[in-house]
Amino acid sequence: MDLRLAHLYPDLMNIYGDKGNVIALAQRARWRGIEVEVRPYSLGEWTDADWPDVWFFGGGQDQGQDLVGADLAGKNGAALKRSVEAGAAIFSVCGGYQLLGHEYVPESGPAIPGVGILDVATRAGKKRFVGNLLAESAGGQLIGFENHSGRTYLGSAAKPLGTVIVGNGNNGEDKTEGAVQGKVIGCYLHGSCLPKNPWLADQLLAWALARRNTDVKLKVLDDSDEAFARTQAVEVARTRP
Ligand code: GLN
Repeated sequence: MDLRLAHLYPDLMNIYGDKGNVIALAQRARWRGIEVEVRPYSLGEWTDADWPDVWFFGGGQDQGQDLVGADLAGKNGAALKRSVEAGAAIFSVCGGYQLLGHEYVPESGPAIPGVGILDVATRAGKKRFVGNLLAESAGGQLIGFENHSGRTYLGSAAKPLGTVIVGNGNNGEDKTEGAVQGKVIGCYLHGSCLPKNPWLADQLLAWALARRNTDVKLKVLDDSDEAFARTQAVEVARTRP
């Protein structure tokens, strides 16, 4: 069994330690004896968009989102949609999350069209949401930190990834954090997210491996180090939000 991991726009959408999500996904597969290949997918027409089992789309600055939004408005966006329709998973954070929706409207300048894979829409607000972010989710608590001006609102086809306990989450109003639609997840959890939330990493791994394998069962790993880091981060979030 092998895992094909695509890193979207690693040169433009890779802030706040988000590359750690790629490292965590790859390492949790390798610890289970699964071979992993990671390929970058950035500006310019992709030739192998049907290769990945799972895509990672990180956060970025508004100017990076302009370039990436324009690139996804072309053939690459359609290729990403086809990949998801054919069973690939996506994990996205912040700016990447926003561009998987219908649009991201920055504080100044024109709206940036999104790919429309997630039924969400985002509009920049005046105040930036910066701080620890703790949310309750079906699979367990999620801990990270947020740094965004975007307010994201979910349409009917998307379900919240979690409910905010500490922080702002999607928009600082409706207590939702992130979005899930099929095997696509968007969230505002930087940090990076997956090393401190191993259950979410394993959920993504299972979805990704199921694209080309049947009856995927992941060996249980010793997550004591991850649990320690997570407990510390949750404690900080709860006492120093
Ligand atoms: N520019 C977007 C916002 O501020 C995304 C920022 C990010 O990816 N951290 O909402």
